Amino acid sequence: MDIRTATAAALTDQEVLRLREDFPILQSEVNGHPLVYLDSGATSQRPFAVLDAEREFATTLNAAVHRGAHTLAAEATVAFEDARAALAEFIGADENEVVWTSNATEAVNLVAYSLSNASAGRGGPEADRLRLGPGDEIVTTEMEHHANLIPWQELAARTGATLRVVPLDDDGALRLDVAAELIGERTRLVAVTHVSNVLGVINPVEQLIAAAHAVGALVLLDACQSAPHLPLDVHALGVDFAVLSGHKMLGPTGIGALYGRRELLEIMPPFLTGGSMITTVTATEAEYLPPPQRFEAGTQRVSQAVALAAAVRYLQDVGMPRIAAHEAELGARLVAGLSAIDGVRVLGAGIDLPRVGLASFDIPGIHAHDVGQVLDDAGIAVRVGHHCAQPLHRRLGVTSSTRASTYLYTTGDEVDQVIDAVARTIDFFRRA
Ligand code: PLP
Repeated sequence: MDIRTATAAALTDQEVLRLREDFPILQSEVNGHPLVYLDSGATSQRPFAVLDAEREFATTLNAAVHRGAHTLAAEATVAFEDARAALAEFIGADENEVVWTSNATEAVNLVAYSLSNASAGRGGPEADRLRLGPGDEIVTTEMEHHANLIPWQELAARTGATLRVVPLDDDGALRLDVAAELIGERTRLVAVTHVSNVLGVINPVEQLIAAAHAVGALVLLDACQSAPHLPLDVHALGVDFAVLSGHKMLGPTGIGALYGRRELLEIMPPFLTGGSMITTVTATEAEYLPPPQRFEAGTQRVSQAVALAAAVRYLQDVGMPRIAAHEAELGARLVAGLSAIDGVRVLGAGIDLPRVGLASFDIPGIHAHDVGQVLDDAGIAVRVGHHCAQPLHRRLGVTSSTRASTYLYTTGDEVDQVIDAVARTIDFFRRA
């Protein structure tokens, strides 16, 4: 489903209040105030269903997967593979196209290292078409989280390929006109974020995907900020790779995933090597399992995968289109409310694109850390700093910002509270 044509009804206030009862941490107090958690863009909170799934696995099924011959090991393996199937269905992929990783960062690095192994001649003749070298180009953007930038800088350094960066305009939007010029015959890979973790805008990635595929380049989509908040269908989008982190979508930390188009995973050399990813090993060489196991060396994060599947089911029960509609409303309320405060500059406010419930702002003369501190005193949790997106901040002329980000459990009242608290913060500092 395309969020631009989404017509689902937003969650009602009553529904959100009901959902909040599922999240124990949301009942807590911080600094004498009820917690107002507006940092879901950094990490989301977990409902009982997720906490219970992890505990239940540990108390009834815990065993290493794909190894033992005993009953628990077999049952744990089934639970692990069922979790993979659940995540695959959630993102519109086939089961064997999902590789478990520890987070999105590792998933991007997996692709970057695999391409560099292919460039080093590893992976056999089929992997040759993945080879990168001098004259080849990797295209990414100035909007990326460092996780989708530094691995490409390193890949370029290892292979002699050139990194090209799609710039932003003065508002912070991707310069699609420049992207159209940059993506050309030399481009081998385009790596782009679906939703900006600083601006909250949903990028028109379809255009970039079409441009990349027109020249035979691969596309890696950073879905960290989209998979938790929007309906996502990687097959419908036609991306070659997508990465996500479980902890941003109600799941535990320590688990993430790489989606890779099956034909690609089949020819990609592994990133990590060792146990669990082989068929036969001699003292001098090894044969590898087909994907996804080829990319899952070592003992896996089984309880985390099972808990992430519970998170996915929870999100599906609420309904991704409705979550997207709820967050679009919260995002609009956040941007409008913050922009209306004299002295606040909402980064990317002028961009005419649909949004999730996330906004970052700068208050000239007041450091983001001070803003964060005052909000924290009122029990409001926001993120301050560069949010792992230094190039974007530099382009917009700031070194840091304060970010408020919502999720399905965020109420409109909480959004209003942060807006009021920011206004009070400015008054406080101006009087001081
Ligand atoms: N990409 C985006 C857009 C993100 O927001 C994040 C996390 O903040 C990441 C990548 C990296 O995620 P992780 O640190 O879980 O690997």
